[in-house]
Amino acid sequence: MSKIIDGKLIAQNLKDRLKKEIIELNKKHNQVPGLAVIQVGNVAASSVYVKAKTKSALEVGIEVIDHHLDENISEKELIEIIKKLNNQDNVNGILVQLPLPNHINEQFILDTINPNKDADGFHPLNVGNLSISATNDENLLIPCTPYGCLHMLKSLDIDLKGKNAVVIGRSNIVGKPMAQLLLKESCTVTIAHSKTRDLPNICNKADILIAAVGKAEIVRGDWIKEGAIVIDVGINRIQLKVNGETKNKLVGDVNFDEGKLKASAITPVPGGVGPMTIACLLRNTTIAFKNNFK
Ligand code: NAD
Repeated sequence: MSKIIDGKLIAQNLKDRLKKEIIELNKKHNQVPGLAVIQVGNVAASSVYVKAKTKSALEVGIEVIDHHLDENISEKELIEIIKKLNNQDNVNGILVQLPLPNHINEQFILDTINPNKDADGFHPLNVGNLSISATNDENLLIPCTPYGCLHMLKSLDIDLKGKNAVVIGRSNIVGKPMAQLLLKESCTVTIAHSKTRDLPNICNKADILIAAVGKAEIVRGDWIKEGAIVIDVGINRIQLKVNGETKNKLVGDVNFDEGKLKASAITPVPGGVGPMTIACLLRNTTIAFKNNFK
């Protein structure tokens, strides 16, 4: 039977550590880290994420500077707001909740954020730093979801060196940075994607399997090597008929019931990667704050 990796608990431990650190930082600098949270429009999922991020930030003592903007705001106006935040002393991290409306070019917006205040780690400079740095350095601003996955792997207290890691998904937000992080932990990394041939067979060779696809339960039990560690990043809403009633359910990219019979450790959905993503956003904001005083 596999160990269920408790993302909520690991995230809470990280947040508790940050809370203590922020108290000490406040004593030293008479200032707490500030996070500007920008949401454009009212996409329901974005509102849920922004609310959760804001609540967690406040819990650890980070000041939140909220910018909930009209969905018709122009790209130029949004860029002006970000430029202002780039120069605002009480703002150490800037988070732009994605997706943005179609009339706004996401990459232009991410490029506008001061790389030192890049709470999500998506700016090209931070992407480059992640790629060229020799280690997963404590001072890097690293995309939150893959860093959260690495943090969970490390909580298992296993030697990652030389392990075969398979990452399914090649997005800039999850798959690519995940592969970079694992490479720096000296794993042998394979990145699989929508055009990969014979995916089950590739997954079968993985000591560590990271699924970041966005397809409900695509990874079946027989894709998983006996004893592998499985991190399920996917968040998929499916509908189930229970006693003739349609119910919504959140599932991952891995069939959890099958996966837990094969894996030595596996993350649940919900309660796995999700809480870690938020905790790592707070970590990035705190690091950005500390980097100011170097
Ligand atoms: P994305 O759509 O940008 O990327 C999906 C990737 O999966 C692509 O690289 C694509 O090549 C690959 N893919 C698609 N179909 C495939 C198939 N049949 N076989 C193999 N590969 C396939 O998505 P993303 O932003 O990387 O997110 C992936 C999933 O993770 C989504 O479900 C998303 O909701 C979830 N997510 C969760 C968190 C969290 O905090 N838990 C954070 C970010 C994303």
